[in-house]
Amino acid sequence: MKEIPVNITPKPIQTTSGGCDSTNLLAGLLTLQQARTKMLESITPVTDSIKVGIMDSYGSIVAEDITSPINVPNYKNSAMDGYAVSAHDLPEAEPKKFKLVGTSWAGKPYVGEVKENQCIRIMTGAKVPDGTDTVIMQEHITKEDDNIIISSGHKAEQNVRCAGEDLKQGDSVLKKGKLINAAEMGLLASLGVATVKVLRPLKVSFFSTGDELKGLGETLEDGQIYDSNRYTIFGMLQKLNVEITDMGVIPDDREKIEAAFLTAADQSDVIITSGGVSVGDADYVKETLEKLGQINFWKLAIKPGKPLAFGKVKQAMFIGLPGNPVSVMATYYQLGLPAIQHLSGNQNYMPVIAKARATEPFYKRPGRLDFQRAIFSYDEKGELIVKGVGMQASHILSGMSLANCFAIIPSESGTVNPGDVIDIQPFEGLI
Ligand code: AMP
Ligand code: MG
Repeated sequence: MKEIPVNITPKPIQTTSGGCDSTNLLAGLLTLQQARTKMLESITPVTDSIKVGIMDSYGSIVAEDITSPINVPNYKNSAMDGYAVSAHDLPEAEPKKFKLVGTSWAGKPYVGEVKENQCIRIMTGAKVPDGTDTVIMQEHITKEDDNIIISSGHKAEQNVRCAGEDLKQGDSVLKKGKLINAAEMGLLASLGVATVKVLRPLKVSFFSTGDELKGLGETLEDGQIYDSNRYTIFGMLQKLNVEITDMGVIPDDREKIEAAFLTAADQSDVIITSGGVSVGDADYVKETLEKLGQINFWKLAIKPGKPLAFGKVKQAMFIGLPGNPVSVMATYYQLGLPAIQHLSGNQNYMPVIAKARATEPFYKRPGRLDFQRAIFSYDEKGELIVKGVGMQASHILSGMSLANCFAIIPSESGTVNPGDVIDIQPFEGLI
């Protein structure tokens, strides 16, 4: 199984207790890498496949290795607008005259013969006619009535794209487990492939629990808040090719919670909830999970996002995110998303990590791995720089919106000073 190469390699810190697990940073806490490994090891990726049209394949995962049924390109063609000649006729010293005898258009090849010292007007992508093998750019010739003048210095077979130069018939094109993005859609189309076998999309159900949570349009009474996590989770799932079921807010009621978990487990591959997984929760989420599933309640050595529940309810993968809105996002991106990607069969999921120079301090105590909300930009030399967004508490969702990246500060690190180079994880990748 692949380890996600997030550049987070916490060094064990010295503990005075000595006897506890030396790979743990703080007694009883799991490192991010330990939690990821445990998660990924427990997941068996889906294998059922469906056939979809290329236009419907974006975001899907290729279900079987695909080889090319044809050569791409499948004929020798011109890389330039110009004139096709035979390399045998190219002048060695003095400029030479070639008689223009026809035109090869893209899609309308020249079919006649090309004799010695003759040439063909040729467009980009047009077939290089039999009897020619070299294209002279139109900017490099002079025209004289029905003739063109070519000077010396041209190379045989220049400006020509050979058949099979991109892919040869039988070449491997896409491997099983590959995510289909724009390039893959175009690539499959370039082979004339109209449908592709992909792994079936995952079904994801999610809900919030808590008597303090109110839905939009409702009036807040004293001690109540709007349920925001469900919207954040829905937003984060939009990036994936998954079938989403929003199960709303489930009140703190033993029977309703149990019923919600059972419904979610029956209809989905993945259940995501937020809140109710920390120690001291007085609600019924934890006891229901303990009754229904095989769930681990983890305390993670990351900040934000200490508590996390992970396991199975019936056959469905369960991800119980913490309740605090920033912790929801941090734990989803660092653990939930890799787990969903792995279950979906994506074998190449890899978050983008870059190095940036801090322009302001990032305050931190050694101990946990921090995912501080930060803004990266470029300095006058075009180099990446990064600064924090201010308040870093795990309930400050506005900071997540101000930020465009996580600043990843290793567990053993204390405060990062201006000038220090740190890892950043942009929220938006290219794809
Ligand atoms: P918990 O983990 O359930 O103790 O929740 C931790 C914090 O997150 C509390 O302040 C909750 O009110 C808050 N919280 C829990 N669920 C949500 C939610 N769906 N939307 C917004 N805040 C929430
Ligand atoms: Mg709660």
